[in-house]
Amino acid sequence: MRRTKIIATLGPATDSPEVIEQLVRAGVDVFRLNMTHAHEKWVREVVPRIRNASKELDRPVAILVDLQGPSIRTGDLAEPLKLTKGEQLELTTATLKAGAAPSILVNYSGLAEDLSVGDPVLVDNGVIQLKVIAKEGERVRCEVLTSGMIGSRRHINLPGVHVRLPGLTEADRKYARLAVTVGADFVALSFVREADHIGQLRDLLKAEGSSAQVIAKIEDQEAMRNLDEIIAASDAVMVARGDLGIEVHVEELPLVQRRIVSKCIKLGKRVIVATHMLESMIENPIPTRAEVSDVANAVYEQADALMLSGETSVGRHPVKCIEILNRIAARNEAGGAGFANNADIKSHKQKTVRAAVALADSIPGCTMVVFTKRGIMADYVANLRPEGASVYAFTGDPQVIRHLCLSRGVSAFTSHVSGDPEEVVASALDELKGRGLVNTGDSAVVLSDVLGEEFTQDSIHLRKIQ
Ligand code: PEP
Repeated sequence: MRRTKIIATLGPATDSPEVIEQLVRAGVDVFRLNMTHAHEKWVREVVPRIRNASKELDRPVAILVDLQGPSIRTGDLAEPLKLTKGEQLELTTATLKAGAAPSILVNYSGLAEDLSVGDPVLVDNGVIQLKVIAKEGERVRCEVLTSGMIGSRRHINLPGVHVRLPGLTEADRKYARLAVTVGADFVALSFVREADHIGQLRDLLKAEGSSAQVIAKIEDQEAMRNLDEIIAASDAVMVARGDLGIEVHVEELPLVQRRIVSKCIKLGKRVIVATHMLESMIENPIPTRAEVSDVANAVYEQADALMLSGETSVGRHPVKCIEILNRIAARNEAGGAGFANNADIKSHKQKTVRAAVALADSIPGCTMVVFTKRGIMADYVANLRPEGASVYAFTGDPQVIRHLCLSRGVSAFTSHVSGDPEEVVASALDELKGRGLVNTGDSAVVLSDVLGEEFTQDSIHLRKIQ
């Protein structure tokens, strides 16, 4: 059984009820709705389709609403502008004026103030490279370093530059409220640069009465400087390699990825590796060998989840992408030799969980059964990355089940967690037997902080399944 979770971005290639069902069958654990491209009506249409597919197939599936965050973009151009290496281009937030160099509008009023002469300006995924050579009031004159076409509303990256954009835009606030209305399980924020941005999103969600979990997308150097605080403030973190690979030198990206994944495991937070995992499959029915190795690398690093973007939102082979990701992950999970779990173990509860994981992993074929009210105990287990033991979590809260869709190696089921403990455990084990996940005679380590006296007694039982 695969431990690494799979996130698929939904889009025009996959938003029909039939394809959503095929994707769930193929192994999607979380669907991402990317608000950079989506709109309210579509979100309201696809959410019930996802919920229906999950119910029909009796498989928990979570929904992640991904907010665009503050984004610097080119303004509207009458037609794309051709730029040639060595030319000059003026970026401005003032009115356009005819001058020696062509000029285009940019939507960020702090641009000239934040940039210094010599700074790089990268447009459209770094395809167009500019360098600042002069500033005059609100106008920034740049030298064109790479030729290309520049179009309307293209994203602009300013690597290493401290920008004073807000943490959340008005559109983000609107879509965060929409996420609450449709009952999203996760809300991700793009371009998080400091922990307070996550705090602002959390406050909004709380004020709206939501218990959605918050994901910080790490996309630039400033986020890397504030990494520990951002991880501590978030429920999960995404290595958003699309923008990150522009904002840091591309050869740094594997090291940055490794650092984020390892830090998240240390600090007990879930971590997603995203973008370009099977990019060539947007067109082709098979991945490149390098893509296979990239996916395997994220699995060896023990990321909780892998995310596909264009591959499933607009690609030609979305279901095949999930099947292949499923196969690569499942096959390579045993290959992470040398992985040393560095999770910080502080509380008594974490020490109990560590003992339970060690016990389960020391018995061949042993299963872990975790009773958890808010998912915390199950997340502690996931954070310790059990090597051999399968982990089954039981909770009475359907949203906790969906939150656990992001936790490495955990499969979650509904159960009463109060009542006679013996009966609760027996019915959970029966459920696992009924699903063919355990057999009579198997060993199971049963871990709980909710049976008996709630939250006051942590217990580990080693059982033989009857
Ligand atoms: C990324 O940049 O890698 C990413 C996941 O964000 P988006 O798809 O919103 O650009």
